Amino acid sequence: MIKAYATFEPGGKLKPFEYDPGELNPLDVEIDVRYCGICHSDVSVIDNEWGMTQYPVVPGHEVVGTIAKVGSSVKHLQVGQTVGLGWHSGYCDECANCRAGDHNLCPDGQATIIGHHGGFADKVRAAANSVILIPKGIDLESAGPLFCGGITVFNPLVQFDVRPTDKVAVIGIGGLGHMALNFLNAWGCEVTAFTSSEHKRKEALELGAHHTLNSRDQKEIEGAAGHFDLIISTVNVKLDWNLYLNTLKAKGRLHFVGATLDPLDLSVFSLITGQRSVSGSPVGSPSTIEKMLEFASLHKIRPVIEKFNFDDINAAIERLRSGKAHYRIVLCR
Ligand SMILES: [Zn+2]
Ligand SMILES: [Zn+2]
Repeated sequence: MIKAYATFEPGGKLKPFEYDPGELNPLDVEIDVRYCGICHSDVSVIDNEWGMTQYPVVPGHEVVGTIAKVGSSVKHLQVGQTVGLGWHSGYCDECANCRAGDHNLCPDGQATIIGHHGGFADKVRAAANSVILIPKGIDLESAGPLFCGGITVFNPLVQFDVRPTDKVAVIGIGGLGHMALNFLNAWGCEVTAFTSSEHKRKEALELGAHHTLNSRDQKEIEGAAGHFDLIISTVNVKLDWNLYLNTLKAKGRLHFVGATLDPLDLSVFSLITGQRSVSGSPVGSPSTIEKMLEFASLHKIRPVIEKFNFDDINAAIERLRSGKAHYRIVLCR
């Protein structure tokens, strides 16, 4: 039996929950969970915010652990290896996206916490093609958040061939944004953080921003007109997007990784005259996750975390809900 924590109704507290995972599928592995990050998407799924939660739900999709069992057809992973598991715990491996290496765009990809039990547990199972070896040099305690939040902000750098000479801004310096500043600084870019509090402004500079702009000061934002090649938005609230659109250079891109549920209200004129783009992307493929881990290891990038014991899981969720987490929460054994 796998000992987990599950929620049984929208917004419910997590309670101990045991389930029998059955025989191990030939293409799956079983992971002994050592650490698991908590992501905003875990809370969205607990609350059934996206209308796709299947209860009881075992959240947790920023897993770091050790391979405990491998299925009979798994060739590239062995018992005892240290691995990570993120938003996806399986891909079809056959669709056009998978064949192109874009597994994170697989329409039949298995989400780790939707119709599948996740990492708030002593063990979790996943298809071997979604489980990533963690290279040496990665601090395991803080590595969990790289597997969802980290890859979400790293992936656009790979997708859009961001160059070291590019000027890149990040909106929202929280769980995702703080990792974006780390990555962009190491990538060589000129990095700007849009943030509203003096406290976060100082921290943004320490995390790798070269400049900050006050996101509540319209004049300050207007003063940055035509400046950025790329803006990555990590927030899930509605902002005056046209204000931000105008801070892009011609051919610049406003890229969304924060899942705001409000429709975008955009000036098409600003898009057309500057040939600007607006886009979004989900997490990243296994090979991009591997690239990210090597890059993070080389540049000593590690998420800033607060630690909670697995037994204090409800307090950890409350902490995340309060918006005060600094910056990401990790459950530890
Ligand atoms: Zn996540
Ligand atoms: Zn596929």
